[in-house]
Amino acid sequence: MDGIEEAVAPFRGTSVFGDLLTVWNYYRSIEHDFSEFESTFGIACPSRCGRCCERFIPDVTYLEALLIAFYLTSVKKEDISYLDGWGLSHDSCPLLDGSTKRCRAYAVRPIICRVFCSAASQTKNGLSFRGCHLSTDMPHMVREISDKELKASHIRIPVMSEYGEKIRQLQEWNTETKLLDEAVIELSAKLELLRRILAESGDDDDFTPQAS
Ligand code: SF4
Ligand code: SF4
Repeated sequence: MDGIEEAVAPFRGTSVFGDLLTVWNYYRSIEHDFSEFESTFGIACPSRCGRCCERFIPDVTYLEALLIAFYLTSVKKEDISYLDGWGLSHDSCPLLDGSTKRCRAYAVRPIICRVFCSAASQTKNGLSFRGCHLSTDMPHMVREISDKELKASHIRIPVMSEYGEKIRQLQEWNTETKLLDEAVIELSAKLELLRRILAESGDDDDFTPQAS
């Protein structure tokens, strides 16, 4: 996915082009925060765990969903019809591949999936990191970090709520959230419509998102 700049090229001249790069570049800019935190404290999710993904469907903003929709349909060129109505009969995330226990869109996973095991929480007593207790029958690598360890650290500790706020500030209209399956289906349809318009007219039609 390093070549996202090339992959989004067909949308150049539309607002979608800028939106995709905005959220992608934001994800890239925060990677260092998490990797430094993880390496400093020896935090790592067990390979192919996915227990958290089996327990919820993420709520995502427009920008998060747009990048996922783009990645699945333009980069991976997958049939995503399985997403339609997913939430009506499932509690798990639709992007978890049940056979491999891997995320189908890991490179563009939403912010909650990035901070869940790699960021501290802000509490009234300061920062807190309690680790993950979902994968109890697996090697436990997402351990609790004591408040003393956190305070003594000289690195920047990523704080969960800050990333959630920041993603909403990337665009002033990027505030509403929807369940991932609904949002990705909706935006995939809008991307497909835009592809058709661009192919037929060659025009750089604006594609301003509607918070529908
Ligand atoms: S260790 Fe916890 S946070 Fe990491 S993948 Fe497993 S359930 Fe999710
Ligand atoms: S988007 Fe990927 S990482 Fe996030 S809950 Fe779904 S499967 Fe898990």
